[in-house]
Amino acid sequence: MSDKKNYGFTTTILHGDRAKPIEQGSLHKPIHTSVAFGYTDARQLASVFQGREPGFRYGRQGNPTVSALEEKVNKMEGGVATLCFATGMAAIGAVFQALLRAGDHVVSSSFLFGNTNSLWQTVAGQGVGVDFVDATDVANVAAAIRDNTRIVFVETIANPRTQIADLKRIGELCAEKGILYIVDNTMTTPYLFQPKTVGAGLVVNSLTKSIGGHGNALGGSLTDTGAYDWTRFANIFENYKKAAPAMWGITQVRAKGLRDFGASLGPEAAHHIAVGAETLALRMERTCANAKALAEMLSKDPRVAAVHYPGLPSHPQHGIATELFKAYGSLFSFELRDGIDCFDYLNRLRIAVPASNLGDTRTLVIPVAHTIFYEMGAERRASMGIAESLIRVSVGIEDTGDLVDDFRAALDA
Ligand SMILES: *Cc1c(COP(=O)(O)O)cnc(C)c1O
Repeated sequence: MSDKKNYGFTTTILHGDRAKPIEQGSLHKPIHTSVAFGYTDARQLASVFQGREPGFRYGRQGNPTVSALEEKVNKMEGGVATLCFATGMAAIGAVFQALLRAGDHVVSSSFLFGNTNSLWQTVAGQGVGVDFVDATDVANVAAAIRDNTRIVFVETIANPRTQIADLKRIGELCAEKGILYIVDNTMTTPYLFQPKTVGAGLVVNSLTKSIGGHGNALGGSLTDTGAYDWTRFANIFENYKKAAPAMWGITQVRAKGLRDFGASLGPEAAHHIAVGAETLALRMERTCANAKALAEMLSKDPRVAAVHYPGLPSHPQHGIATELFKAYGSLFSFELRDGIDCFDYLNRLRIAVPASNLGDTRTLVIPVAHTIFYEMGAERRASMGIAESLIRVSVGIEDTGDLVDDFRAALDA
């Protein structure tokens, strides 16, 4: 497949592997399990290690199956370079490990994936200042920025309440201040939105979720979009400034975050994720349509107290979502009226499965306050707008009518 033509999203993902020599005609990138790699002679080994020749050194830093997936994700995000990690959390952890030093400051959205929130608390205990702000308004981010702020971190659509960061204006603010802007794109995926278009320098994706899409492999990625000028970043080691400045950040993250940190993606998981990614666009179209149908039905039902979904005109950031995203996502949450027990409701669902993953082919439901947000306690939950009856729904690819009937029948019972 020629790289010259601008093919669409799915064509590119399906046929991208063929841009490189095909091993034994295999249309899937084979699963390479080798940890070590051979060379024509000892001089070539040295040359690969010194970066004068392309090639693989050791499985922790790179593997042909993983690098094929890295290229796929990189194409999806329109990036300069992408690294894969064992999990989405490992990708975020690598940012901390590779790019922050004691005395630095981070401004983070307070509407965050729970484990990222927990990670930033750990970082705060290690000498990096972290301020959490309501990132739906750029003014809150601007007010928190200090001279030593190195990173602003936000998610596109937050889980479970679906708040949307003021993505464009935060990008403008970061560009003006020379601050690295990192966007976790997991909930939108590069099919609905490319954070590069709002100036994000680094993009995080949990490949475990919609990109892999089948709940059968963990993985994460970090894409350098090329939007950030690394000459403005204080923490690049002299060692990693040999290449063009566009490569400084990713080179340091590969060395410090992947080689030294070691949370590498395995080739089997990379294969599962690459196969899943082929149908990302098809699945997103179906799951987003299903989510919209469910959210609309529930929002009209008097037994439901609130529905949080960016696709509803009542959502506070409906306008931003309409402007920036191809569709409104496959996740929503809702609150039942007082007197309806959320456990009883969940137990009456016949199709949706009580489970904690997101972006699966199957519809998954979870009572948020009693599970993923249990550890933080009632006070913090209230401050984050998490009602005790809140149910999060990660919508799958089931037939729309079946899902709508399932959620309605559980209310009727
Ligand atoms: C799940 C998730 C992560 C972490 O990904 P894992 O692959 O589970 O480690 C990070 N960010 C968001 C928004 C997520 O939903």
